[in-house]
Amino acid sequence: MLSETDKKPKILVVDDEKVNIDVLVGLLKPHYKLVTAKSGDKALKRLEKLPLPDLILLDIMMADMDGYELCRQIKENVATRDIPIIFVTGKTLEQDEAKGFEDGAVDYITKPFSPTIVLARVKTHVDLKKKSDKLKSYAVLDGLTGIPNRRRFDTFLHQEWERSKRYGHVISLLLMDIDFFKRYNDHYGHAEGDECLKKMARIISQTMPRSIDLAARYGGEEFVCVMPETDSTGAKAAAQRALEIVRESKIPHAKSSVAKYVTISIGVASWVPTLDCQSLALIEAADKQLYRAKEKGRNQLCVEKNGFSSHG
Ligand code: GH3
Ligand code: MG
Ligand code: MG
Repeated sequence: MLSETDKKPKILVVDDEKVNIDVLVGLLKPHYKLVTAKSGDKALKRLEKLPLPDLILLDIMMADMDGYELCRQIKENVATRDIPIIFVTGKTLEQDEAKGFEDGAVDYITKPFSPTIVLARVKTHVDLKKKSDKLKSYAVLDGLTGIPNRRRFDTFLHQEWERSKRYGHVISLLLMDIDFFKRYNDHYGHAEGDECLKKMARIISQTMPRSIDLAARYGGEEFVCVMPETDSTGAKAAAQRALEIVRESKIPHAKSSVAKYVTISIGVASWVPTLDCQSLALIEAADKQLYRAKEKGRNQLCVEKNGFSSHG
């Protein structure tokens, strides 16, 4: 569970004068989690650590690297460029302010400032940042089940495939398909079918507890798991676990020919990618094994390794 402080939005205050930092920290502390940096270099070091702040308050006149330069560097880095930056500065000329906006700031506050106005502007930009984060997460999550969607899977597999290729690591893919799901829909109705998909998504995500794995909805009643740095034995064990957890959850399925409950079939493929090989080949290999699992009677898994097939 998140503690109250973890839930607070995080703000990074960058200023080379302690007294300025103290004033802002004193003002914002009741509402936000604060981190501070007394130079541009220290701020950049801070931004290498996760979780990243939701907002940065930035002084302009600093000894080593000035605020404009720091702002530019933050905006050039893909990992940090979406963090809103507000300049808080003694530079009151119109051209200074214009330069701040040109360099990518969302707001510009001049000193001496009114505490009420600082609080209001900070709140506005933190709220906007939270909303934009939420919108971004919708783009990679499946609308029905809330787990990662096909688009997220495609990006993730591509990244991990390339990484495996670089390091010569093995990568595994599990393709899962609910057995006789058309009959389930026909018998219980589409709304119940949707509920079943939600439960399956939850179950399948739970069987993949490692943070480096990804479980996603591949489409319709098919789910997919990518397991980087996992060989055939490990992937088969994970698939076996998924089969069993689905069986044990005992979701009634009156029209299935293989059990009284909802079951899945799984195809597993594990490859060390070669230079000329695309990730699509791994999906095709797992799909072939899924087809075999269906042919052999469903409610089971089939594994491919280096072009050979086996089942369990
Ligand atoms: P098999 O054991 O061979 O996999 O048979 P199946 O009936 O599961 O396979 P088939 O591909 O014939 O049918 C898949 C069904 O999944 C048909 C479709 O209505 C249903 N389906 C796909 N997406 C959704 C969805 O979002 N919600 C619901 N309720 N049903 C869906
Ligand atoms: Mg299907
Ligand atoms: Mg099916």
